[in-house]
Amino acid sequence: MKIQTDAERYLILSRRDKSYADAFFVGVKTTGIFCRPGCPARLPKVENCEFYDDAKSALKAGFRACKRCHPASHFGEASALIKQLIGEIENQPEKRWSEADIKILGLDPSTVRRQFKKRFGLTFTQYARQRRLGLAAQDLMKGESVINAQLTAGYESASAFRKAFSDTFGAAPTQAAAKPLYIDWITTPLAPMLAICDEAHLYMLEFTVRKNMERGFTKLRKTYGRAVIPGRTPITDNIETELKAYFDGSLKKFETPLAPTGTDFQNQVWKALCDIPYGTTCAYSDLAIAVGNEKAVRAVASSNANNGLALIIPCHRVISKGGGLGGYAGGVDKKKWLLDHEKRHLGA
Ligand SMILES: [Zn+2]
Repeated sequence: MKIQTDAERYLILSRRDKSYADAFFVGVKTTGIFCRPGCPARLPKVENCEFYDDAKSALKAGFRACKRCHPASHFGEASALIKQLIGEIENQPEKRWSEADIKILGLDPSTVRRQFKKRFGLTFTQYARQRRLGLAAQDLMKGESVINAQLTAGYESASAFRKAFSDTFGAAPTQAAAKPLYIDWITTPLAPMLAICDEAHLYMLEFTVRKNMERGFTKLRKTYGRAVIPGRTPITDNIETELKAYFDGSLKKFETPLAPTGTDFQNQVWKALCDIPYGTTCAYSDLAIAVGNEKAVRAVASSNANNGLALIIPCHRVISKGGGLGGYAGGVDKKKWLLDHEKRHLGA
């Protein structure tokens, strides 16, 4: 049911009715915190309430997410449609899923395509194929033979399997058994992110919408000659926890160990980037001076854009000399959001 008035919303709030947990959000002017209906915190006075249809609007209006009811935790999460389809894949991960299956399930293929692309950077069938080949990769790491892994993935032809495997993971099946990198998606309030880790380091963290993600991915495979397969490690869990704290405003500096992936010059720029304090900005030209080469503005800007570790290496804090936002590989709207977010939590 659609709730019409603020009076109705306040009534639901006062009943602490959890069945409306996603129906609307309430910002409390006196505390600067926003909650979802059903939150166990003290009921605010009606005159201090501002109602929002979604968590994003409440965040935009400057409210912080409540630590008890976590009102921002659902937004950025997978849609019901995606959850349903991932569920279907997980029930039969070895099945060769196709566009036709989407129609059989009564769903609209173009909506599915758009939502999957947005969330994972892959279509539904690409995702399903990656999952299926991931099973094969797991088999290989357990010491299974390539032919068994091939059968697990549902391939009759050895050459088709080898090609699909290297297209997807950037390495031959025999290579995958040796020290792979693991890729997984992490939900954030802003957009889903992709994390690539091994057991010791984080190698890449990008918003999935980022245009040159694919390029970074390829570069990573080339640099390390390691397969990138679906899965996570304790480092993935670690960065996920840190991201959660960053987005609720409590974390100002990331501690997850990073893999060195740049040239000497890039590493120098990235180190200087990490010295820009939380909630502040600096110009590309200042950064060039900081690395001791004020003529290298262009090279600095390109190192800035190619760091592959969004948020961790805070390239969003670099703006144009005149005070304009400048570019951002993940999209300028995100850059603005991040800068506003950090400004809001600066003193917290
Ligand atoms: Zn709350």
